[in-house]
Amino acid sequence: MKKGQLFIVSGPSGAGKGTICQKLVSEMDVELSISMTTRNPRPGEVDGVNYYFVTREEFEQAIQEGDLLEYAEVYGNFYGTPKKKVLDKMAEGKDVVLEIDIQGALKVRKEYPQGIYIFILPPSMTELRKRITRRGSDSPDSIELRLGKTLSEVSYIDKYNYCVINEDLEEAVARVKAIILAEHSRVSEQIYELIKNYKEEV
Ligand code: 5GP
Repeated sequence: MKKGQLFIVSGPSGAGKGTICQKLVSEMDVELSISMTTRNPRPGEVDGVNYYFVTREEFEQAIQEGDLLEYAEVYGNFYGTPKKKVLDKMAEGKDVVLEIDIQGALKVRKEYPQGIYIFILPPSMTELRKRITRRGSDSPDSIELRLGKTLSEVSYIDKYNYCVINEDLEEAVARVKAIILAEHSRVSEQIYELIKNYKEEV
């Protein structure tokens, strides 16, 4: 059976990667990996749906037991990708999407360079500032911190295969879908098999 592919959707905080990924899974046959985090659930978030909410001790144990594909500390909380679930889904032939921060994406890339790395960019820093302010969960200092971090993060763009500017959500989702479809159309071992069958048929 053909193995599923790994798509890593990453980018600065506030660029909209979470919303893009939610739409993607509702419109395409891909699995979104559920991360483990030590942060507290926000109102409406459900354990096992949005994240696996765990204690610091449980997170450290997962690290020690080698259960995480990658992990990173993001604004004081730990986030990590459960390895087994991702590998199992791919072995079943499913495409898996990781929605993770840039530090995490760079770690996955070291272990799994054949993944498809997609960078989501805000249209401008002015727009990013507006979005983070509108979200209402950050103090003025924290907004400045996020914007500063964004400037250093965009320097890693050359580690990615694709970038999508999220100016209009529908358009950005359409572009990520187009990337996934294009990756499915690459000349691959499977195509050689198909062509071999052609020869046998004539
Ligand atoms: P939030 O707390 O807003 O849900 O997420 C904060 C940041 O953590 C976002 O940039 C999100 O992409 C990132 N994140 C979520 N899950 C993971 C993960 O498993 N690994 C890493 N490295 N980052 C993650």
